[in-house]
Amino acid sequence: MPDTPYSIGVDLGGTNLRAAAISRDGRMLDKISGSTDFHLGRDEVIGDMVRSVGRLRAIHGHKNLAGIGIGVPGFIDLDRGVIVGTHNLLGFDQYPIRDELSQRLETPVILENDANAAAQGEKWMGAGRDVEDLVLLTLGTGIGGGIISRGRILHGFVGMAGELGHMTVLPGGNICGCGNYGCLEKHASATAIEAMAKLVALGDNLTAKEVFDLAEQGNHNTRRVFEHMGRALGIALATLINIFNFPLYLLSGGVLPAWKYFAPPMRAEIEARSFTFRNTKTRVEPATLGNEAGLYGAAFLPFLLQQVSRS
Ligand SMILES: [Zn+2]
Repeated sequence: MPDTPYSIGVDLGGTNLRAAAISRDGRMLDKISGSTDFHLGRDEVIGDMVRSVGRLRAIHGHKNLAGIGIGVPGFIDLDRGVIVGTHNLLGFDQYPIRDELSQRLETPVILENDANAAAQGEKWMGAGRDVEDLVLLTLGTGIGGGIISRGRILHGFVGMAGELGHMTVLPGGNICGCGNYGCLEKHASATAIEAMAKLVALGDNLTAKEVFDLAEQGNHNTRRVFEHMGRALGIALATLINIFNFPLYLLSGGVLPAWKYFAPPMRAEIEARSFTFRNTKTRVEPATLGNEAGLYGAAFLPFLLQQVSRS
């Protein structure tokens, strides 16, 4: 397929580096996954990214490459192309990652927040294909958010819009790395589930997956964990629904298998708090692309740029 127009999407996570070549019509042509070792230093991670992109480009050709999109966790300053205040990506705070990669790859690079990219991916090829407006919440170690309005990522004036994990859902709740108390991600992420499991004496070092397994075995104490999580999500979603009146709100992440446990309290909370939800056909659903959403979304960004410059 050397003549297929394509772009390359990269997803840089705290432990994983993935890159994919995706065609203009949304076919995943190739995917590379590897681990990122931030302890080896920033230059090593940048080198890994350059090599991954280089491998895909060697296979699919320079001529048809529309561009490169990169999703990274954290607050993004779009104008400067930097990540601001990152704790997980050692050495990347304020580092000109976009320009450095662009220079080394001799191709324009588009930098984007990973959850924004995932939301764009769901809009392009996933659960949001039939709508123009949606919100995505990614439930992982933290909670990321992406807002798609009229088919595009809503950025705000710097690029930090959609940090939905930092909505306050419990005033005076758990302290968050962002400086606030009671952020959604402190009450509904996988990390929050693990912390709550300790509080209700399920066990000291259980992973969110193990808490889910206990629920499946009929352990009733897990109910309190998923009840709290579901209510926190419901409060956040009701607020989002009241603000946006979008038709679709998506949830993704490793905790989705627990949907049947947290969705009922979540829905009850949304019903109670959103007139808009009660009186419209607003949908709250699982996302469908899993951890590939970010790759699709990052790869879509160069195509979007082409469209804009053509019109
Ligand atoms: Zn926060």
